[in-house]
This record gives sequence, C-alpha cells and structure tokens, in this order.
Amino acid sequence: MPTVVTNELNVYECAEARFEAAAAKLGLEDGLYRYLKYPNKEITIYIPVTMDDGRMEVFVGYRVQHSLVRGPGKGGIRYSPNVTLDEVRALASWMTWKCAVVNIPFGGAKGGVICDPEKMSIKELERMTRRYTAELSDFIGPERDVPAPDLGTNEKVMAWMMDTYSMHMRHTVTAVVTGKPLDLGGSRGRREATGRGVLMVCDKAIEKLGMRREGCRVVIQGFGNVGSMSAELMHDAGYKIVGVADIHGGLYNERGFDIPKVIDWVHTQHKPLPDFPGGGAKMSGQELLFQPTDILIPAAIENQITSQNAHRVQTKILCEGANGPTTPPADDILRGKDVFILPDILANAGGVTVSYFEWVQDRGGFFWRESEVNERLKDVMERSFDEIVRYAESHGVNNRIAAYMVAIDRVAFALKLRGLYA
Ligand code: NAD
Repeated sequence: MPTVVTNELNVYECAEARFEAAAAKLGLEDGLYRYLKYPNKEITIYIPVTMDDGRMEVFVGYRVQHSLVRGPGKGGIRYSPNVTLDEVRALASWMTWKCAVVNIPFGGAKGGVICDPEKMSIKELERMTRRYTAELSDFIGPERDVPAPDLGTNEKVMAWMMDTYSMHMRHTVTAVVTGKPLDLGGSRGRREATGRGVLMVCDKAIEKLGMRREGCRVVIQGFGNVGSMSAELMHDAGYKIVGVADIHGGLYNERGFDIPKVIDWVHTQHKPLPDFPGGGAKMSGQELLFQPTDILIPAAIENQITSQNAHRVQTKILCEGANGPTTPPADDILRGKDVFILPDILANAGGVTVSYFEWVQDRGGFFWRESEVNERLKDVMERSFDEIVRYAESHGVNNRIAAYMVAIDRVAFALKLRGLYA
C-alpha cells in the first residue's frame, strides 16, 4: 500500500507515517499506540543571552523527551536556524526507536535551539549553552536524560553543558552528556563511531548481497562527522569512494578519490570541497545522489530523496548516515527499484551505541581501550543488522518497517512489564 502523507517534507509527519505503518503491522493495541505515538514531555525555553555588543537577545530552545520507558532519555542537541518543534519531536521519537533497535537501555529525546552558530561568537554560544542547560537542569541527568552533540554542536558545547550541570549539582557529573572531550570523560572511538557503524552495516549488506569491498563504488553526501568518517574508514577498508559532497557542492569521479587528501583539503586546509584538485565532475550535493553507484550514503540532512527524485537513484544499497534523508513516498519508489535499504535507525546507530559506552564508562569511572570500544560496537551493529534483516524476511516487510516493528515491540514489551504508575 502506498504511504500517504500530506506534506512529505514535514519530518514529524514522516516519522508518524512510519510508526503507524509498523504499529498497524504489529497489531499494536489502541492504548499502547496512542502512548507511543506522542512524546512524554515537551519543554520550551526562552533563553535570554547578553550578546557581545551588550544587547539582550532571546533564543527559543526545546527539549522533547519522547519515551523514558526503557531508560533515561538519549538524544542530541541541534543548534540551527531551521530548528522547529516538529523537527525536534520527530528526532526524539527516532531516538526511542534507534536505541531500541540496537537494544541499549535508553529512551529517546532530542533538543534544539533556534540560532545560527556560524553567526555567533564563541562567548555568545557559551552563554546561550549555559543558560539553556541551567533551565533544563531539573529534566536532564545521568538517570533522567542524557544529551549529546548533533548538527551545530560539538564536544566544546558538551563540556560547557557538563560544567553547568555539575555546578548546579555541586559536584562533577560527567555522565550527564556524551560526546565530551576525552579529557573530560569522553570515550575513545566516539568521534569515529557513527562512521564506523556505517562501515559495519555496509560490510554486512554487501556480504548478504554477494558483493565484495574491492571495486564496490560508494557515493557519500555530507562531509562532516558522519560523512567524512564513513569515507575515511570505508576507503581504508578497500571500498572505492566515487562521489563526495558537502554544502558547497559535490564531485563525482568513477576512478575513486584519495580520501585522506580530500579530508586534508576540506578539514585541514579549509578549502571548498568542489575545488579539490583533479576531483572529477562538479555538481550540486543533490545531483550527486543520482550518479551510478553500488552504495549511496546520504550523511547530511533530512528530505534528500523524495517522491520527486527517487526514480533517479541508481544504487544497489542505500545506507542512511543522516537521520530522515528518505521520505516515505520515496521509500515506495525505491522498493520498486529493489534497493536494499539500511534505514537510519539502524545504519547511524553506531554513534548512540558508543555514547552508551561513554555513559557506562563515566558511571564506572573506568575507561576502555579503543579496540575494546570498537569490538563491542561491532557486536552491537552486526547483531542488530542480523535481527532486523531476519525479521524483515520472516515477516515479509522491508528493512525499515522491520526496524520500526522490532523497536516498537521492544518498547511496548518494556512498558507492559513496568505497568502504568497511578
Ligand atoms: P556535521 O555538521 O558534522 O556535517 C554535516 C555535513 O553535511 C557537512 O559537511 C555539511 O557541509 C553537509 N551538508 C549540509 N547541507 C548539505 C546539503 N544540502 N547538501 C550536501 N551537503 C550538505 O553533521 P554530522 O554530525 O555529520 O550529522 C550529519 C547527519 O547525520 C545528521 O542528519 C545527523 O542528525 C546524523 N547523525 C549524526 C550522528 C553523529 O554521531 N554525528 C549520529 C547519528 C546521526
């Protein structure tokens, strides 16, 4: 049955459509359906900040806790001019399902502040972050809700959040956020974790489809944390990265890129990606998605593959490094083209998995070697891939709906075990 959404670019509507399709297949009872469909709590904060010129500015920030049934909330904080409550709600619910897919003991949450970090000074960002954290201090905490970085935030922002929360608690609480600097209770391997998880599920997918790493073409849209780490690790593993793009545009070259050189160009020399010397055909970041490839990895933003363009995708495997890059109507088209989909709530779950490891290490006060982190990550990603693909095959659904069904079932089961308080 085709998926019906009134506005396929509304991420909340898309998240709901997927939840509903999976809940219907599961035959989820009505009360549970309504309980899991809506967020547990939505917090809106008007954040006053003294700007460098002495003016007072007020920013709007959110924290949405979608579900705390399986454990504390878990989810990033996004700083962007495009943040909306609907987007934060959608991302919070995805976090619930993602944590359940990889079976880690967290619920789902997400935060965001409407601001343009590119246009703010470091001091302004610090003051905004500290006030936002102070206002949230009753709602977050290692046992309540554990934020992490997302678009526009990084380990420096997490260090400020950790310090502000610790000042309120009167002692150092490293486990209140993850994605921290290594010297402040961060985990080895966290920076690479999402990209490493992408590599691990791609390895499983090509094995399943009888393909080999050598000569396997990969196109990656987005060259930030997820995109460039996936590119580097897959390049090292023997894949051929034939397309890369960031916000400035993309490059496609059938011969493949020397990824360490591209990383040096973009991240060390701070030069525009499309100007990379000898880089092949220049095109927009969107156009890159439609070039011939074996694995396509959207790792930038939402709503890149839609009903308007999905028929142009030419790939065997779609591995979603970003959250929500494919809309539900686009899924319907890709199904007809027999694309093997690694859905976001599985494919990019390496990040939250190592965030879980960071939280465990902080609480235990004992830190693991990087090889231990990566080995445990491999166990989680490979097991999750196997469970989802097996479920899809045995229930006659696609991988995405299977991932949602497994996740919803796990959360619903935990809720039944807990029962309702009062
Ligand atoms: P980032 O800010 O480090 O990088 C984003 C990249 O996308 C940049 O290279 C930017 O130039 C590029 N980009 C932005 N708009 C673009 C466009 N229109 N076309 C092409 N490129 C564009 O962010 P990130 O942490 O790499 O996150 C990327 C995506 O992955 C987001 O959807 C995020 O929610 C998701 N994600 C991130 C993590 C993580 O651990 N960082 C984990 C899970 C999911």
